[in-house]
Amino acid sequence: MIRPLPPNSTIGLVGGGQLGRMSALAAARLGYRCHILTREADSPARQVSMAATISDYHEPDGLRRFADAVDVITFEFENVSAEGLDLLASLKPVRPSPAILRISQDRVREKNFLNRHGIATAPWAPVEDFEALGAAVQRIGLPAVLKTTRLGYDGKGQAMLRWPDDVRAAYDALSPKPLILEGLIDFFQEISVVVARGEDGTSSAFDTAENRHRNHILDVTLAPARIPSSVDAQAQAIARRVADALDLVGLLAVEMFVDRDGRVLVNEIAPRPHNSGHWTIDACPASQFELHIRAIAGLPLPPATRHSDAVMKNLVGPEEAALWPTILAAPGLIPHLYGKAEARPGRKMGHVTRLFPKGSLPGDFGIAAALGPVAPTVGR
Ligand code: AMP
Repeated sequence: MIRPLPPNSTIGLVGGGQLGRMSALAAARLGYRCHILTREADSPARQVSMAATISDYHEPDGLRRFADAVDVITFEFENVSAEGLDLLASLKPVRPSPAILRISQDRVREKNFLNRHGIATAPWAPVEDFEALGAAVQRIGLPAVLKTTRLGYDGKGQAMLRWPDDVRAAYDALSPKPLILEGLIDFFQEISVVVARGEDGTSSAFDTAENRHRNHILDVTLAPARIPSSVDAQAQAIARRVADALDLVGLLAVEMFVDRDGRVLVNEIAPRPHNSGHWTIDACPASQFELHIRAIAGLPLPPATRHSDAVMKNLVGPEEAALWPTILAAPGLIPHLYGKAEARPGRKMGHVTRLFPKGSLPGDFGIAAALGPVAPTVGR
């Protein structure tokens, strides 16, 4: 066994995006080297790592070369095929385990798993074909959200069904099949908890954060979430219960809806660092990225404490990327840029964090004022 992973060991990180970049930076601080598996030579994670294997995530030869070069394997990107995961796991320790990735890759498996462990979700039904969709609409009712079971993110791979006439076009437009139908939750808030769990079963959960989306993409995260303590207790308990039920070794983000009755429903889980945990880099002694690396390397897990309140604002697409010079000149904004060469619409280019003394997170006007040049997009 490799635990604890000695300094100067090489962590293999599957995925070359910003989550990998920030994980690699955290790994470097702990004395580890990172080797990235990525499709693009100039990816954000590659730019800050020791080495990379440039390969498709499904190509056995690339996966083998990658595994040969590393001591332990983890992920910032979950969509490696079942065969690819088995191949990696036959060569090196993989954390979190392939079984957990298989659950989080597939919305039907994920919801079955959660419900089996007594965790509430939106009402849902699997949609294998168009006939099944008719039955699902009868059972769940409209409005509802039709989603691909795999490969969806940032609102891609989903369609809103408001009227019976929407059903055919939405079914035809979504791919890959099969699909899943979910009842539309009239949520009051969206929140998330990021929890790290070690091999010995100890876990550290960050404070519950409040998330606001724009065009289906995370726009702003507030930490801590402005929720009653009873809702917070539910959210924290759910996150730890999911991590325990999965027997997780690594990091897990649990995205949840708070409905108008104060009930907490899980939307989805991601066994990796998460956009809604970026505030932890600046507001916590040990960030979500550090806890991820510690958990998969078998290092002690410190408590996920927070020294400040925080607002994180994503910089999405060319318009917000263009604010960079102004952001750099704005007092109090902590800048993070991901090194992406091209700013396409909807692409996450970076983020900014603004800290407040603990217990003094302002209301919406105060937050807008504090965010300065990036404020115009807040709360729309
Ligand atoms: P997802 O890709 O499942 O995380 O969905 C992206 C966003 O779409 C969520 O953060 C919600 O804002 C919204 N959404 C997804 N599913 C539902 C649902 N069943 N009810 C209400 N809103 C949803």
